[in-house]
Amino acid sequence: MKRILVTGGAGFLGSHLCGRLLRDGHDVLCVDNFFTGARRNVAHLGKHPGFELMRHDVTFPLYVEVDRIFNLACPASPVHYQHDPVQTTKTSVHGAINMLGLAKRLKARILQASTSEVYGDPEVHPQTEGYWGKVNPIGIRSCYDEGKRCAETLFFDYHRQHDLDIKVVRIFNTYGPRMHPNDGRVVSNFIVQALNGEDITIYGDGSQTRSFCYVDDLIEVMVRMMNSERGFTGPVNIGNPVEHTMLELAEKVLMLVGGRSRLVYQPLPADDPRQRQPDIRLARDQLGWQPKVGLEDGLKETISYFRHLLQIGVAA
Ligand code: NAD
Ligand code: UDP
Ligand code: UDP
Repeated sequence: MKRILVTGGAGFLGSHLCGRLLRDGHDVLCVDNFFTGARRNVAHLGKHPGFELMRHDVTFPLYVEVDRIFNLACPASPVHYQHDPVQTTKTSVHGAINMLGLAKRLKARILQASTSEVYGDPEVHPQTEGYWGKVNPIGIRSCYDEGKRCAETLFFDYHRQHDLDIKVVRIFNTYGPRMHPNDGRVVSNFIVQALNGEDITIYGDGSQTRSFCYVDDLIEVMVRMMNSERGFTGPVNIGNPVEHTMLELAEKVLMLVGGRSRLVYQPLPADDPRQRQPDIRLARDQLGWQPKVGLEDGLKETISYFRHLLQIGVAA
């Protein structure tokens, strides 16, 4: 049994991770500033004797005593991370420095939730960990992409300079219950639009691709990575390699939800990557993992969640 800090623990992925760690018998300290996270995401954990929730912004120092750290704090959807881009970079960079400083003082193992966005608009397909990416340093996505790249740099420098026990995962598009209903991500947008009978907004011509991983598969591999042998630092891609166009996704959501929403086409946002698919051989070979949940099953769970949110008036 360990004491585990999860930053960003009241967010979409963080809340699932906190639940999993408690089920595994650990004590969990969830730290969040509630920028995009919500108390309702962790309300069901509140009565668990091993769970503690702390409101705190990771851009400020944090002095606590734990054995392990999962660093997830950072807004993840373009709408949210572009809302206050300076704060986004600060969260990734100052947040990483503070959590690395904490890990160094405690000699604690620390895992960074990095992202496929470090590959930018990739020229190598599918993306392997050895690819350095094609990232615009001054565009509207840069606060997130470059912030996350700098955080990876900090992790590897603390590892080389201070022998810190680090783990870095690069998460590809993940979806599931507890995604923020208004965060503008494609899965939540399409489902909420379909449930409300509104037009489904396809950006560009819908031929751009993403590969979607269901949250349970992702949490499983994050835990495996944290438990992997010392010295296996990553970075390791985690995600589902089955690739879809946004048009295919829209049609699948419509088929599952029913209703009469129409597809409407809107301009493609700047620097929107054309294609994205993880090469997960490293995760498969080193961690013995591969995703199990198919898109249709995962979407059904997610649709039920959003249907419930709409019924209780949260995602009006
Ligand atoms: P999310 O927005 O639901 O969760 C992020 C959490 O971090 C929120 O609870 C938010 O309130 C908190 N937070 C933001 N800034 C903070 C700060 N300064 N101090 C403390 N807490 C802060 O997003 P998510 O999808 O759960 O993403 C979690 C992590 O995984 C992020 O680091 C994200 O970059 C990474 N990631 C997610 C995906 C995905 O598809 N979901 C893909 C790649 C990477
Ligand atoms: N830090 C923290 N909690 C700790 C130890 C450090 O938040 O328990 C922060 C501290 O604010 C510092 C940062 O982590 O600025 C980096 O720490 P490190 O020891 O690497 O650097 P230094 O303190 O020498 O700048
Ligand atoms: N997208 C879309 N309609 C929407 C929201 C997003 O067509 O209502 C597209 C978006 O342009 C991108 C893809 O879906 O090509 C994935 O977008 P998301 O914001 O979910 O993730 P990211 O671009 O960060 O992978």
